[in-house]
Amino acid sequence: MADGFVSGISDADERAIIEAIDKWIVKKVAPVAMKLEHDDIWPSDLVDDMTELGLFGALISPEFGGLGLSATTYSRIVTRISEEWMSLTGIFNSHLMMATVVQKFGTQNQKEYWLPKFADGSMRGGLGLTEPDAGTDLQGIRTVAKRVGDKYVVNGTKTWISNAIQGHVVALLVKTDPEANPRHKGMSMLITPKIDPETRAPLKGVANGKKLEKLGYKGIDSGEFIFDDYECSAELSLVGGEEGKGFVMATGGLEIGRINIAARSVGIARRALNESVKYSQMRKTMGKPICEHQAIQLKLGEMAAKTRAAELLVEDAARLFDTGARIDMEAGMAKYFASETALEVATEAMRIHGGYGYSKEYPIERLYRDAPLMCIGEGTNEMQRIIIAKQLIARNKV
Ligand SMILES: Cc1cc2nc3c(=O)[nH]c(=O)nc-3n(C[C@H](O)[C@H](O)[C@H](O)COP(=O)(O)OP(=O)(O)OC[C@H]3O[C@@H](n4cnc5c(N)ncnc54)[C@H](O)[C@@H]3O)c2cc1C
Repeated sequence: MADGFVSGISDADERAIIEAIDKWIVKKVAPVAMKLEHDDIWPSDLVDDMTELGLFGALISPEFGGLGLSATTYSRIVTRISEEWMSLTGIFNSHLMMATVVQKFGTQNQKEYWLPKFADGSMRGGLGLTEPDAGTDLQGIRTVAKRVGDKYVVNGTKTWISNAIQGHVVALLVKTDPEANPRHKGMSMLITPKIDPETRAPLKGVANGKKLEKLGYKGIDSGEFIFDDYECSAELSLVGGEEGKGFVMATGGLEIGRINIAARSVGIARRALNESVKYSQMRKTMGKPICEHQAIQLKLGEMAAKTRAAELLVEDAARLFDTGARIDMEAGMAKYFASETALEVATEAMRIHGGYGYSKEYPIERLYRDAPLMCIGEGTNEMQRIIIAKQLIARNKV
């Protein structure tokens, strides 16, 4: 059980959580999602609800106040919420990626200090890897943290960070030795709060810059982090207490991140399919519902088969993750296939809806705008195919 999350609660409790989330989606999310998305409003009431539902601690061990859900249950929750509004899952998932770094690699002291605050949502945050000049090539980052006595002094800029503005803290990938060769040996991970966790007073040396405007994925804030002689405690911030391990931490946390993106993609595809199945029975042309035209049936058949295949790939990756196995290939396959499926199914749903697919009164245009991000986040789909191929060769050496 090296890497997987071991569920800390019973099957019945997990079912109860999924049912509670289902009720919440119908009662609270569905009535407001469209308006909040179109107006790009951060959903503060829904964030309060998600805190109460325990979602900010979903993958954190019960020992530290979390729910300790398995990846299988977690991915089902993510899919279900994404059917209604995918952005909501980014608010707790990016946060849980940060928590996973501490849970998996932190010192006992760091786990005891940070994880309860992450689990109860009092310190929400995300993962700060990307910089203006480095996304896929993470080893090219320029943010530097210099050890000065018992502190680190941080300088540099991060961009595209989810929860940057509304969040309180970020797991930050930095260079502690910019001259290291190979480059990854000079990289470390720091937990860098924007506010003092005890007094909640803003800390000096860190600012957010501008909120980034996006095609979709609205509601959740994506922003910059600008560090200018920012100081943090080495003991509490340097994850694992040892420099040079940051690259492994950044990429090691991505397996659950990829399962999550794949699960979100299934939610988008499933909703686009369901809407299309409904609409095609109601809309009539040439005297019959369009679902009776073979051209539409061919689309529905392909959309349904691919959505189901994506669902099964996510289940497979999550189940394997829960055994503690190394699953770069399976998580990569799920992420790649499910995100391409989301994009394709959302596009086909728009064609089936004709002009109404383009209207803001229907959810299709929103799914169509949300889907492409799934192909970019947590490692682009170009990189996923390379990862799959490399694993395939490594596991089948001749
Ligand atoms: C809405 C949104 C939210 C985000 N949230 C976060 C977040 O919370 N935290 C965070 O750290 N980052 C976040 N990101 C950043 C995201 O992870 C990066 O955009 C992504 O990793 C790609 O990096 P890039 O944009 O620099 O593209 P580049 O790395 O410049 O890539 C450009 C193109 O080249 C291809 N490419 C690059 N290198 C190779 C290669 N070796 N072989 C083949 N093809 C290659 C890529 O696949 C892509 O097609 C977010 C981005 C968006 C849009």
